[in-house]
Amino acid sequence: MSEFVDVLIIGGGPVGAALARSLADAPLSVMVLEAKSSPAADPRVLAISCGSKLSLERIRAWSAVEHATPISTIHVSQKGGFGRAILTAEESGVAALGYVAGYHEIHSALISGLDPEICIEGACACEIDLSGDFGAVDFDYQGKRRQISARLVVMADGGKLVEHVKGIEQHQHEYGQWAIIGQVRAEKPHLNTAFERFTPEGPVALLPYGEGFSLVWTARPEAAQTLLALEKDEFLEKLHEHFGDRLGKFVEVGPLSGFPLVLRYSQPIVAEHLALIGNAAQTLHPVSGQGLNLGLRDARALAREIMATPIDDIGSSGMLSNYSSRREIDRKSGIHFTDSLIRIFSNEIPALRAGRGIALAALDCAPPVRKWFSRKMMFGIGSQSIL
Ligand SMILES: Cc1cc2nc3c(=O)[nH]c(=O)nc-3n(C[C@H](O)[C@H](O)[C@H](O)COP(=O)(O)OP(=O)(O)OC[C@H]3O[C@@H](n4cnc5c(N)ncnc54)[C@H](O)[C@@H]3O)c2cc1C
Repeated sequence: MSEFVDVLIIGGGPVGAALARSLADAPLSVMVLEAKSSPAADPRVLAISCGSKLSLERIRAWSAVEHATPISTIHVSQKGGFGRAILTAEESGVAALGYVAGYHEIHSALISGLDPEICIEGACACEIDLSGDFGAVDFDYQGKRRQISARLVVMADGGKLVEHVKGIEQHQHEYGQWAIIGQVRAEKPHLNTAFERFTPEGPVALLPYGEGFSLVWTARPEAAQTLLALEKDEFLEKLHEHFGDRLGKFVEVGPLSGFPLVLRYSQPIVAEHLALIGNAAQTLHPVSGQGLNLGLRDARALAREIMATPIDDIGSSGMLSNYSSRREIDRKSGIHFTDSLIRIFSNEIPALRAGRGIALAALDCAPPVRKWFSRKMMFGIGSQSIL
């Protein structure tokens, strides 16, 4: 194992792996440290935007994602209030607004194309020293402590190590919500429609996936515990009660899992010899499925910056400040957009309910706004956000 590389990526999740894949053809030495020994079967099912699909195609990972379900329509509504908006792929002039695929499948597609020599599984980074001419990372591997230095250290670890980095502040807001996720079937077929329904307890999303739906049901922590403990039939009934009758009754549910929800973002996203990408830079509420899409755009932007920089300047403050400023608008918009949706929609204030109804109805009645909105959801915001 080398003791020095040009780019060291901490975390071989989907975003870290996407960066490594983007750099695969560059004349650079790259290494990925991944704490887990083998990819765990993560139960999340993710909505991938049209822009992310193109990005995965570009790094030759998309062809291995064989079970993706296209989204041709997005139906947005609020429980107990008027107004709804419908976005369609046809109106936006694209084959699909997005695709729904398992985290595990996307991750495996990215990892399996990496040279096993550069992806060290079971290597858990524990200390980062950025005070020298290069970044130095201590990690535990096969029962021993080792060190590796790099021109650039990229943190793609989901955000666990950021608090140890001097000069980077992590901001955190607990939503007081959990996401219950699992796969369900309804009496009616999905017809490639994704549903996002806002309720005072939090949004509930049903994404078309295979023959059924992938469910993301947001609830307060105590309510989530109660729902997770229900018998299957009781759970299906509660879901029907909560979501409404648009799809008929729910008839089948697979294993369920719960995720506590938090907004966490780092500021700035660079330090000496170091850059953050993906959830390490920003961990968002899953409403509107932005997290991985934003992370893939971080990875793409950083890869571009690395490849445009002379090798001796990789990790320099000039290179890092270019990366940081190129990501600023898209990243801030993603954070504010998801956070505002939760703040505006997750409450029972009557005036806000009426305002939300008007906003949804206005969106539904204005084709140019709908198209603009769909494009931002598909490709991100800001000049560098598209791929
Ligand atoms: C319920 C739910 C639904 C979601 N739905 C969507 C969606 O529809 N669309 C969407 O775009 N996003 C969605 N997201 C967000 C998405 O899952 C994340 O944005 C995405 O997984 C981030 O990828 P990442 O690679 O940055 O981080 P992670 O997926 O957290 O991966 C980090 C990796 O780093 C490794 N690691 C951690 N610490 C260390 C260490 N010390 N040393 C070495 N390795 C380490 C971990 O083992 C892991 O493999 C959802 C999230 C949730 C919770």
